[in-house]
Amino acid sequence: MKQAPKTSRRDFIRKSSVLAGALAVSPAILSAAYLQPGKKLGIALVGLGGYAGGQLAPALQQTKNCYLAGIVTGTPAKATDWAAKYNIPKKNIYNYQTFDSIADNPDIDIIYVVLPVSMHKEYTIRAARAGKHVICEKPMALNAADCREMIAACKKANRLLSIGYRLHFEPHTQEVMRLGQKQILGKVTEIATGNGFKYTGDPNAWRLKKALAGGGGLMDMGIYAIQGARYTLGREPLAVKATQEKTRPELFSEVDETVFWELKFPGGQKVTGKSSYNNNWGFLRAKVEKGSFELEPAYGYDGLDGKVNGKPMNIPNINQQAAQIDDFATCVRLGKQSRVPGEEGEKDMKVIDAIYRSLDSGKWENIG
Ligand code: NAD
Repeated sequence: MKQAPKTSRRDFIRKSSVLAGALAVSPAILSAAYLQPGKKLGIALVGLGGYAGGQLAPALQQTKNCYLAGIVTGTPAKATDWAAKYNIPKKNIYNYQTFDSIADNPDIDIIYVVLPVSMHKEYTIRAARAGKHVICEKPMALNAADCREMIAACKKANRLLSIGYRLHFEPHTQEVMRLGQKQILGKVTEIATGNGFKYTGDPNAWRLKKALAGGGGLMDMGIYAIQGARYTLGREPLAVKATQEKTRPELFSEVDETVFWELKFPGGQKVTGKSSYNNNWGFLRAKVEKGSFELEPAYGYDGLDGKVNGKPMNIPNINQQAAQIDDFATCVRLGKQSRVPGEEGEKDMKVIDAIYRSLDSGKWENIG
């Protein structure tokens, strides 16, 4: 049998970055300010909730190419706390009414949208119109059509758009991409993956409201499992069939609790996924022609662990968010497309849209 060419992990990551860099964007994005060597780019976080406060702000204390320069919040008490904690000057603090005047603030190069999903589109578009580059959290928007509007608005404003897909910068995940896409152990024949947690939080939270979240465990957690299958194979799925189950219908009256799906890929692999607000899942298992590889935990912020043919990967964990944001700052500086651009967010939303269609129809639904 013909052997797949050997590619080292480092080679693969380097080549992937070169490939991403080749997707250059308009030269107008290159500006003298960004090219100043040593200048850290300024980031403003919009929405100071759990993820911004628990992960992104601490990560921005570790970044080398950018720093936490500003904040946008509707809660004056948070503005005071954050200003003191992170040394943010008053002139770099905005609320949702004053947001658009951020256009006049040269301290802010990048706006990072960390709001409920229904607000991602509006704030991404307003940020781009204010002349800022944008990172938008996952899921990118309520549906794929909204993603396309966001991509078009950023293109029109000639600003870069990236999605908060931290795992693309994470070494275990990069190893899975290499093993799967480069067929290091032969072709992938089967993938099983799932992500979820048991929701015990506020019953009135935005995550449980369809208008604000777009959906439940699938939008929030399942998106990682969809990504997992896509980046393991390096291909796009063609069709999907899904089912769901609700154990707490009173809590999940508007959004999905647990969803199961099967994806049809062009290579004919058997790919199953599941998402949940009722089960603590976080795994990705792939069968390949010459064995298997797996990650568990596969999708968390830290503590990722993996095996290849039963042997530990022995790869260190890193601060994923710091790596992700630093990479985008470099993209902005160099005027090159992020390896997780808006189009990547749109691809996941196309799959999610099709899963919801399949839950309604009970049939296989084409993706796209
Ligand atoms: P959160 O509820 O903790 O924070 C949301 C923030 O938005 C709060 O500060 C809230 O005050 C503000 N907000 C403004 N307008 C609001 C409104 N109308 N309703 C509710 N809140 C409003 O949520 P979070 O966990 O920080 O999630 C924010 C975003 O980050 C989501 O898109 C989520 O999917 C994403 N996220 C990503 C990761 C990741 O690993 N990439 C992890 C967690 C969350």
